[in-house]
Order: sequence, then C-alpha cells, then structure tokens
Amino acid sequence: MDAPLSELLEFLRYPSISTDPAYAGSVAECAQWLYKKFLSMGLSATVHPTAGHPVVVARNAHRAGLRTVLIYGHYDVQPVDPLDLWTTPPFEPRIENEIIFARGATDNKGQILSHIQGVAEMLRREGELPVNLIFLVEGEEEIGSRNLGKFLQDNREALHCDVIAVSDTGMIGPGIPTLTYGLRGIACLEIKVTGPAMDLHSGIYGGAVANPITVLARMLATLHDENGHVAVDGFYDEVNSLEPWEKEVWAKLPMNDAELIKLTGVPELTGEAEFTALERIWSRPTAELNGIGGGYQGEGSKTVIPREAFAKLSFRLVPDQNPQTILNRVKTHFEKVAPRGVRVEITLGHSGAPYLMNPGSSHGMAARRALQTVFGSDVALIREGGAIPIVNTFREMLGAETLLLGLALPDCRAHSPNENFPVENYRAGIRLNQALLRELAL
Ligand SMILES: [Zn+2]
Repeated sequence: MDAPLSELLEFLRYPSISTDPAYAGSVAECAQWLYKKFLSMGLSATVHPTAGHPVVVARNAHRAGLRTVLIYGHYDVQPVDPLDLWTTPPFEPRIENEIIFARGATDNKGQILSHIQGVAEMLRREGELPVNLIFLVEGEEEIGSRNLGKFLQDNREALHCDVIAVSDTGMIGPGIPTLTYGLRGIACLEIKVTGPAMDLHSGIYGGAVANPITVLARMLATLHDENGHVAVDGFYDEVNSLEPWEKEVWAKLPMNDAELIKLTGVPELTGEAEFTALERIWSRPTAELNGIGGGYQGEGSKTVIPREAFAKLSFRLVPDQNPQTILNRVKTHFEKVAPRGVRVEITLGHSGAPYLMNPGSSHGMAARRALQTVFGSDVALIREGGAIPIVNTFREMLGAETLLLGLALPDCRAHSPNENFPVENYRAGIRLNQALLRELAL
C-alpha cells in the first residue's frame, strides 16, 4: 500500500463524530493529525479553536500576482448507528475489491484528503504551487457548521480568495466527471394544532369539539393541488425557469426514471407532470411533510379526541426563492385555512438559501477543463437537490464562488452503514486537484 492510501486509512481511524460530546477528544486528535500532515508537506498550518470543534487552516507562501484558491472540506463525520448493519467496524477501514469501507470514507475524509495529497505531490515534484493556496478544513460540517460563519467573519482578510473548491458532492455515475453548479435551499417549519385542554372521551364529547388530528390533516392536504403543485399563494413567484441548455444537457444524463425507481424502491415516480424527474429534483421547489404525530400510537384502540396534533415540514427551494419569504407565505396560508375551534401554532425553523453559479464563468470553465483532463470524458453539468448552506456563506463573507467537484458515487452510502469510497476515485481526486490548480492559475 502506498503512502497516500495508508494515510487515508490513518485519517479514517479517528472516530471524529462531531455531534456526540463523548467523541470531542477524537475530533481534536483528528484535527491534530491534519495539522501535522500539512506541516509535513511544507505548508504553514494552524489549528484554530472555536466555541465548538477546531478549524484547521493551512497555506503555502503566497506570492503577489497569483490567483488565490481556497479548498474547503471537513474532517468530522456522522454517527455510525445502527452499528449492527456495518459489515466491519466503521472506524477500522478495510479495502475490498478496491473499495474503501469506513465512516467518513466518502463524506468527507476521502475527498478532502485527495486534494491534500494532490498538493503534497505537486509540492514534492515541483517545489511550489501555481497558485496561492488556502486549505480550510472544519470539524462541524455535520452539525451545521455552527461556528464557521463567525470564523469566516473574524478571518475575512486572511481567507481572502478568488475562488473556492469543494469536493463534497456526487458524480452522476462511475467515471463521469461532474460539476455541480446549483443546489436547492431549505426552509423548515413546525405546526401544532391544539384543541381541548386534555385528551377527551370521544363518546362523551365527540361531535361537539374539533379533533386536532382531523383539522391538521385537512390543513396539510391544502398544501398541494391534485397536479402536485404547491398551492401556497405566491410560492412560485420568484422561481426561475430553466435555461434551454440545462434541459438539453440534463436530458442526456445517464440517469432516468427507471434508475430513480430502482434507487428509491417506489412503484412509480410522481410530481409535476410538465417536468422530468431530474428537473423536479434539481430545479423545482417542494413542500414535504417530514413527520406527523398526535393521539394514541399504542397497541389496540383508544377512543380519544386528542388534545393536540403536530407536523414537521420542510421546503426545498430554488433560485431566487428566499427562505424567510417562503416561510412567511406558508404561515399565512395555514392561518388562512385554519378552522375555528382549535388553536394553531406555527414555529419557523432553520433555513438556507439556494445556490447557483455560472458553469460558463472563467472559473467554471477551468474546473470543467480539469475534470475533462482527469476523467477523459465529457463533463456532466448538474444541480443537486440538497443544500450546502456554507457555499452561500462563502459568497457573502468572502465574495467568492464555489466550484463543487464531487467525487462520491451514487452508492457511496454517505451517512449510512457501510459508507464507502472507491480507491480509484481517491486517486482521481489527487490528479483532479493538480489539474484544477493548474487550470485556475491561468
Ligand atoms: Zn455529510
């Protein structure tokens, strides 16, 4: 096993689970490992404490007149439960058929380390880099990058850069170089319907008081019309239609309805009929119910009119929807459809704006050339349905666009048992980093 690979296995052995305080020591040790790795490459490095887990920053000696590239990643990982679904222990990495299995293999240790190894190789071979480089590797991505915004603000000058590169997204398929140029945003909300002061006997009172579950179910059913459109007034007001080139390019991607049915296990895909499934996922906003509760949930029956019912909702947003505006419109909608006889309480939750960059910009084109060079095939230009809120923070705080150069495969099982990353993708990432820095230097 060569050094880049054995070092990845070392990196993967730290149980750097950021959400669980029991692992805080391991998270800190993992940051130290990175710090030492950066020093060994000849970069200067600092482990910055935050109110939570540390941020590791490394840089080469910056020279006037060169472009500055910031590469972002994270060294923290998700919890491993349910542990019994792992074939082998999550923090004892194993390689089977050229695939590395471990928590963090793809999200994000394998991907960020491929960039670090790319730089290490270039420095070893050429003595210097064609750009001014900053590595920013945080330990709180999996818990919402709680302290990174403040860190960026406090270190705005030192982190000044022309462009940012992140490998924490996916490839559309094995061997297909992929540039993600758009992400959906998110906005969350909880609704609670309260009726009587306590659960009531449904025989003694039923018929004379409103049932909170019935009320909530009716209210939630007003969110969509029969064609799958969100029926909240003004919901689509700021939604942009797709550019013709996007429709054309997406239609040719090796991802079709049959593939999506296989991946999800649903009997049939549904949604807005005038859009393809990929268009619905990448470019259309949604309203989703994530959880619902109230009343008796145990064995058998219990004849009550429950005191309350609640639901948790999230909305996936697209450019140029504003999360706060959308949440307010949804709140107004629910207030309008709420019947008398109950109290309705709406709590607005966390949110993040959508993201869109121009894949035809000079940085976008540089990324595409680098991807093309390394993988030797046409670059897939995609958006993703999920959110990466930090890219908006980068845009606001550092004024720089983010290039999302994903190396994960659709079956890498990030956040799930048996997370994995092909050795081939790790090696491709090492080459991609070097091609990217060369292209961005021009
Ligand atoms: Zn993750």
